[in-house]
Amino acid sequence: MNASIVIEARNLTKAFRGGIVAVSGLDLAVPRGSVYGLIGRNGAGKTTTLRLLMGLLRPDQGEAKVFGASLWNAPHKLRQRVAYVSQSQQLPGWMTLDELSRSNASFYPRWDPDLARVLARRWELPLKRPIAHLSGGEQRQSSILLALATRPEVLFLDEPAAGLDPIARRELLASLVDSLSWQDGCTIMFSTHYIGDLERIAEHVAMMDRGRITRSLRLDEWLQSTKRVQVVFDGDSVPPEFTIPGTRRSRSEGPVFTALVELSNEDQLNHVRALRGTRVNIFAMNLEEIFIDLFERPSESEPSQWAELSTQENPTVL
Ligand code: ATP
Repeated sequence: MNASIVIEARNLTKAFRGGIVAVSGLDLAVPRGSVYGLIGRNGAGKTTTLRLLMGLLRPDQGEAKVFGASLWNAPHKLRQRVAYVSQSQQLPGWMTLDELSRSNASFYPRWDPDLARVLARRWELPLKRPIAHLSGGEQRQSSILLALATRPEVLFLDEPAAGLDPIARRELLASLVDSLSWQDGCTIMFSTHYIGDLERIAEHVAMMDRGRITRSLRLDEWLQSTKRVQVVFDGDSVPPEFTIPGTRRSRSEGPVFTALVELSNEDQLNHVRALRGTRVNIFAMNLEEIFIDLFERPSESEPSQWAELSTQENPTVL
């Protein structure tokens, strides 16, 4: 294993009873100190991937490793260096955040009481009220606080921002960015449906579909290499079989051809520009627009929409 890679999966596969293949031949590698975002539609396999990496599920095939070891049977000492906040984390409702912090202090050698206090103040969390009497968002923030204050070297977060108001989400992101500046840096892997949040902090973004990572790139690569290209023809319709190299999905409406294109170089469009009577427009896209264009299903009322879908390609390793 490359020394700078702290989270790694090779051919990771997990099926559940009933034959549901939640994760299928998944490969990924996350370098130390980076923020790796996982996005995908509901049911794509994000939570299962995080649980496999955390050693909470046993893979059917392949490997899931953190610091070069499977957490499924790793010694307690290694597991203490890794924190995980699940989507449905339940803290003991009868305890207060203060009590939970004190209890964590005795379990985690790197527990940071000052950080716990700072986060509780920043997020305005009541320390002396039973967790069961906090709002859903406050309970979520409490879970994240308890994870961050263990000073993990690796932090897995499953939908950390679910249920948080926009200001709380902003503050959460700020705290995650702070955690990256800790000595040694914390490596963070998280799943989210708030794609705009990812654009603020993620260095690498992987898109998952049906158990596989269909594409994994640095954020700047996603934004530079993926464009919406529109070609307007002179006549009434797009010529049959017309396409552009690098097209992931396309649709034609009358004389307008619109495609989501992986554009390594604008020269890729030279032959289209050379066609007589065509106009070519190139639009920059943000990550959310790319996600929607890649995964939106053709609607029954508009069958011409996104007729072609090719998200299943060989998994890409960072
Ligand atoms: P979401 O964005 O909705 O949280 P996800 O990408 O996290 O979805 P997973 O929770 O990993 O998706 O689920 C992947 C697939 O595995 C889904 O089809 C889901 O129904 C199935 N699945 C997950 N857990 C189980 C389980 N314990 N038993 C059977 N099937 C499961």
